[in-house]
Amino acid sequence: MDAIRIEHLSKHWGDVRALDDVSFEVPKGSLTVLLGPSGCGKSTLLRLVAGLDRATSGRITIDDVDVTRLPPHHRRISMVFQFYALFPHLTVAENITFGLRIRKADAKARVDRLQSVASLLGLSSLLERRPSQLSGGQQQRVAMGRAIIAEAPVCLMDEPMSNLDAKLRNEMRAEIHGLQRQLGITMLYVTHDQIEAMSMADQVVLLEAGRGRAAATGRADDRDPAGQGAGRRQHGQRHGLYTRPGSGLRRVG
Ligand code: ADP
Ligand code: MG
Repeated sequence: MDAIRIEHLSKHWGDVRALDDVSFEVPKGSLTVLLGPSGCGKSTLLRLVAGLDRATSGRITIDDVDVTRLPPHHRRISMVFQFYALFPHLTVAENITFGLRIRKADAKARVDRLQSVASLLGLSSLLERRPSQLSGGQQQRVAMGRAIIAEAPVCLMDEPMSNLDAKLRNEMRAEIHGLQRQLGITMLYVTHDQIEAMSMADQVVLLEAGRGRAAATGRADDRDPAGQGAGRRQHGQRHGLYTRPGSGLRRVG
């Protein structure tokens, strides 16, 4: 079953076709990476899936339910944004549980979930700090904690590591990957970085100038966590698609 299905989705801002007839599927429990250059419509697509903007046309289903017109809080989705604005005046613990408090989860459940998420992310000793007292990587973990504590079955990540240096990005890739597996969530992860896409993804969907029909799928058992496949990659014939021969990556559109 596909957790998320995008069907003929378009979003126009006046004359700008941010998305133009995009269709693809995100299998349940997969880490699907949406890859494309800056300005190609990646954030637009995530915001439509999250319900933060309204599609011009097309359809989005989650677990076979049409959510195209549903408000964000009825979609059971969590999201990590590119600029993961943490609340500077709140502690790490308060930042992580912010959404739960808004949803009025009971206090005991909140504490239990906070403790398990903090330990999962290595934040247990930092819960009373404020964001300004954290490193970039720690702030990133807080943003992820805020998303995963909601226990939503679908998590959207919009270039969540663009503020981090290369070394940290490498570490966090493995960490995000591990979390996604451990929690069994369906993740749609946006990046413009091909290496990042290839090293994390079960499936890569290419988005180019608002068109998403060029897509490639990978296999869960064919990961390349260290990125060793980079040297073996060759250009696809159209749009600079990168494929790995014999890897299960292939163009599907
Ligand atoms: P990406 O995330 O891939 O960098 P975006 O989805 O942010 O790309 O943007 C895709 C296109 O849509 C760009 O041309 C951008 O300028 C345009 N766009 C995005 N949001 C808006 C908006 N709120 N109003 C007008 N144009 C927008
Ligand atoms: Mg973007």
